[in-house]
Amino acid sequence: MEQYIPNWLKQRAELTPMRLAIKTKTREITYEQLYEKVQQRVNYFSTKNIKKGQHVAVLMKNSIEMIETLHALFAIGAIAVLLNTRLSKQELAWQISDVEATHIICHEELEPKLIEVGKEVTIVINEKITLHEKSNAIHGYTFDQVATIMYTSGTTGNPKGVMQTFGNHWSSAIGSALNLGLQMNDRWLLAVPLFHISGLSILIRSVIYGTSIVLHERFDAKSMNEAIVKEEVTIVSVVTTMLQQMLEDLGSKQYPASFRCMLAGGGPVPKPLLVECLHRQIPVYQTYGMTETASQIATLAPEYCLEKLGSAGKPLFSCDIKVEKDGRECSSNEEGEILVKGPNVTKGYWKRHDATADSLSNGWFHTGDIGFKDEDGFLFVLDRRSDLIISGGENVYPAEIEAVLLSHPLVIDAGVIGVKDLKWGEVPHAFIVSKEQVSKEEMLDFCTNSLASYKVPKEITSMDELPRNSSNKLLRRLLKEMIKDKTDDKN
Ligand code: ATP
Ligand code: MG
Repeated sequence: MEQYIPNWLKQRAELTPMRLAIKTKTREITYEQLYEKVQQRVNYFSTKNIKKGQHVAVLMKNSIEMIETLHALFAIGAIAVLLNTRLSKQELAWQISDVEATHIICHEELEPKLIEVGKEVTIVINEKITLHEKSNAIHGYTFDQVATIMYTSGTTGNPKGVMQTFGNHWSSAIGSALNLGLQMNDRWLLAVPLFHISGLSILIRSVIYGTSIVLHERFDAKSMNEAIVKEEVTIVSVVTTMLQQMLEDLGSKQYPASFRCMLAGGGPVPKPLLVECLHRQIPVYQTYGMTETASQIATLAPEYCLEKLGSAGKPLFSCDIKVEKDGRECSSNEEGEILVKGPNVTKGYWKRHDATADSLSNGWFHTGDIGFKDEDGFLFVLDRRSDLIISGGENVYPAEIEAVLLSHPLVIDAGVIGVKDLKWGEVPHAFIVSKEQVSKEEMLDFCTNSLASYKVPKEITSMDELPRNSSNKLLRRLLKEMIKDKTDDKN
């Protein structure tokens, strides 16, 4: 029989109605109030013919209205397709068509973008809409039911629509609590986008745990630091660039003792940055996860953050991770592809049967990332398989070289790719963005001090900006194309 879960917001509002659900800069809302609003939105959406099983595209910025919208779609059983507000018009049009959305819900200020690409918006959300009637048709879920479709960031190729079930989200939230622990007074600062799994998973955890969210519309280092100090925030989710800016803004100040941790994910965190946090007594736990695992699949447990600095930890309680090479499991410290398994892993990509079959076999999801487990079973994520450079038979990971380049005081961004080389097969080529001009010789000297000679870039190109996607992830494939175009021009 299919496993049933009661509607989690209804349940939460019945269990602890007076607890604070969300706090923004201007508003506070309890679970009872949130549930009431969601019931009204369910009624309103039903009058717009939104029904169970339909794909409803949501293009909204972080806000209480977005949270109400998502809960209302869950209660109807419609599948929320979360769209990145930073997508280009063409990307938006493509995702909406690819997912076969029957309705589009968007914030008023984002509507012109959709109209320009000829998409008809079903519901425009602004603060003027007054909702009256409440609906009692609030439905629970089954584990296998798709709750959300979220496109991958498109870092390695075209984005793919990941189907995330209620069971995936539920298991992810429980796994996280079993690792990080749960406190009645937990307040998770949500400043990453809700349309990414990093943001959505904070929302889902809060309602399942009965804890509060401090919601920011967008990332701003100063506001985040202020919230940690003044709003009694206990946990915050960050990516590397956020962490760097927060440290800079914090200066010599300290976070209060009630602050539990920064959960850092989305990409590799350079080791020098982790060391700096350690010296400044800022608790940072690295986590490894992806859209396909509905957030974390591995996270370093608090007690190991010193001893295993740089590791993404061990699998969450109900998950499993193995590292494979040529179809066999690697031994300790041997590098290979990371495979993951667990109740939070997607059942597949929307309409992409080939991609699903390529990445899922016997319940194991092939991540396309390379890493290793050390002798104690701790996972170290190295880089994406597609970006690996093999130079003179040695594996070279762009992320390691980028971390070294970024530790130079004048370098603000760095990207590394492999280029063809007659002698070595491939050699690293670096691209940097710097505050002021730095000579190639100086950068090479700097790299030689920290890297083995075969990892030192053979070429360094200065740029004004590096190509990044709408999730702010470095697009190494575009750097490769640039080099290829140059070589083609010469021929
Ligand atoms: P696409 O799949 O379309 O190429 P994407 O993989 O960037 O895009 P996401 O699901 O947003 O889309 O990102 C997940 C990826 O981010 C992981 O597969 C991994 O490559 C990287 N990542 C996440 N956490 C870490 C980490 N702790 N260390 C290194 N890389 C990480
Ligand atoms: Mg991916």
